[in-house]
Amino acid sequence: MERGIGLAHEVRRTSARLADGREIIYFDDVTEVRSPRPDERPLGTRAEAGEMRFDALTGEWVAVASHRQNRTFLPPPDECPLCPTGRGSVPSEVPEPDYDVVVFENRFPSFSEGAPDIAATVPEPLFATAPARGRCEVVCFTSEHTGQFAQLPPARVATVLDAWVDRTTALSSLPGVEYVFCFENRGPEIGVTLHHPHGQIYAYPYVPARSRAMLERARAHRQATGRLLGSDLLAAERAAGSRVVLETDHWTAYAPFASRWPVEVHLVPNRSVPDLPSLIDDERADLSRVYPQLLRRLDRFHAAPTPIPLPYIAGWHQAPVHEGRDDWRLSMQITSILRAPGKLKYLAGSESGVGGWVTDVTPESVAARLRELGDA
Ligand SMILES: [Zn+2]
Repeated sequence: MERGIGLAHEVRRTSARLADGREIIYFDDVTEVRSPRPDERPLGTRAEAGEMRFDALTGEWVAVASHRQNRTFLPPPDECPLCPTGRGSVPSEVPEPDYDVVVFENRFPSFSEGAPDIAATVPEPLFATAPARGRCEVVCFTSEHTGQFAQLPPARVATVLDAWVDRTTALSSLPGVEYVFCFENRGPEIGVTLHHPHGQIYAYPYVPARSRAMLERARAHRQATGRLLGSDLLAAERAAGSRVVLETDHWTAYAPFASRWPVEVHLVPNRSVPDLPSLIDDERADLSRVYPQLLRRLDRFHAAPTPIPLPYIAGWHQAPVHEGRDDWRLSMQITSILRAPGKLKYLAGSESGVGGWVTDVTPESVAARLRELGDA
């Protein structure tokens, strides 16, 4: 049990272990001491991640996680593994009667600290492998099964932010971790397998492909101009104005110039910082208000005949752990595949085959719609 250090508001952090040894960490808004209850489920040995394989054609790593085939898929509400134990018919992953925000290691991880060493095999340079060593965590945003991030009060969003900051710092210090990605998949259209409001955190043993591409662009821009690419982009979007969705004292949201998705919004701090732990208290407090506001606007984006909760992916692009930290600028990317009520954008031939993106929605129209919606 320990008090959080440097947390922007009063949050008590309590670490415990689940029956198979996985760590669970409670982030409580209240400051009363929590005495964690034991997890009494007969879970047996924990599942470890497997290996990564290097794609010689593209230079990208692929994590092979065959045990994930057996993971929990859309259970009935009374068997939700993310609800507090006692609310449903079976013990859940959280052996407590209630919680505010809780983080635990994924039972079906793509990366884990215990991924086994790769057995020595006949060396074939084109078939490089490595242990899928890292960590995958689940973040429950609320104990309410039918809640949603957009409806969380700012104080609770601040607690989620505390959890993201804590986990980014902790996971970045694990041996071999090169990138920490905090994200939320929302909606069955995205492939969400559990309806309970939750996100995930992946700690990768490499810098993933898109992050690598962003890093190289940022590096080249800084070498050419001496300035941060993210700062110049923000200044350019503000000057153009037509794609800006909202501006506050500390944050700006805009539909990026070259949006790829039917709905795409970037939320960026007005001050240049590399990652979530670098945000100051005022920036965190402002984010706790503006982020759910933005999500509520997105939930009213497709309004006919009634608002349709927007399926989305929201993820924080943080600086890599060990490189390019002076070149990087923090941003959140929110994207949706919902083009219109009942119509999804699929990544078909051009996008899936060669990464050639085609879009039929202009970011200017997306931004205009989100501005017009205002705050409800
Ligand atoms: Zn639930």
